[in-house]
Amino acid sequence: MNTAFFNHITSVLNQPIINYAPVSGGDISEAFKINTAAKSYFLKTNSSGGALNMFQTEKLGLEIIKNTNTIAVPELVTCGNLGETAFLLMEFIETKTPSETDFKTLAEHLAKLHKTSADNFGLSTNNFIGSLPQQNKFHKHWTDFYINQRLLPQLNLAKTNNLLQDSEIPTEVRLKEVLTPLFKNIKPSLIHGDFWSGNYIIAKNGTPYLIDPAIYFGHNEVDIAMSKLFGGFSNAFYDVYQNIFSFDDFTETRIEIYQLYYLLVHLNLFGKSYYTQVKHVLNNNF
Ligand code: ADP
Repeated sequence: MNTAFFNHITSVLNQPIINYAPVSGGDISEAFKINTAAKSYFLKTNSSGGALNMFQTEKLGLEIIKNTNTIAVPELVTCGNLGETAFLLMEFIETKTPSETDFKTLAEHLAKLHKTSADNFGLSTNNFIGSLPQQNKFHKHWTDFYINQRLLPQLNLAKTNNLLQDSEIPTEVRLKEVLTPLFKNIKPSLIHGDFWSGNYIIAKNGTPYLIDPAIYFGHNEVDIAMSKLFGGFSNAFYDVYQNIFSFDDFTETRIEIYQLYYLLVHLNLFGKSYYTQVKHVLNNNF
């Protein structure tokens, strides 16, 4: 942090900063723990173009989750920029390694978030998945939303990025044919949208917090699919969750199809090391 930026954050906080230290773990931004006499803050900074917009949508996502009163999020201070550097400032949560009980609480609170419903699938604003844009245009039907706002934009981006050939991409008609019977009776649920093990934290007192959301009203099983893609959740988490939201005969297939979106995002963000996994799901289902 240079002196001008340090001074800016001091004035935003309106109190002296005693010290600060980098926090590791983020994929996208630089992060710091900032200590003042009163409390500690978590600061994310990013100097790439469009970062302020990314932080504004992250802040909005956290505020929407907070307003549901279902699961905790860190208390927000503000987001802004100084010159080229955008920042997001929030409460710092002192964390601990999750216990079985903490996983159960996380499942209960996440399920409560998922009980928050709406008339349509989508969100009033677009947001980001990692650093890639994520469209949330409202759709009445989940199949249409998932094809038009999730799979096709990432499949087309992979084609533009020369990571998939035209012949490897299922047509919209084929996508609809496969997904329609799998996506029956699905109600809009408010979901985190990027629910991997790096995007929740457990406070010292056991309270689970969601961070880094990519929220929208979608199928609740999307969050479960992402949680299973890279692992890191205990069986207790799934047991408790399934007692609240039951799964059916098609859940396993849907989970694979929801993971396809995240695999395509990883293909587009990080390159061809994700190609084999993407191809596997495409060949298996379409
Ligand atoms: P990025 O957007 O760059 O991926 P994250 O928001 O995921 O960054 O934050 C990086 C890491 O910092 C997280 O994995 C988490 O461990 C930690 N972290 C995030 N927010 C807080 C917070 N409010 N308090 C304490 N630690 C946090």
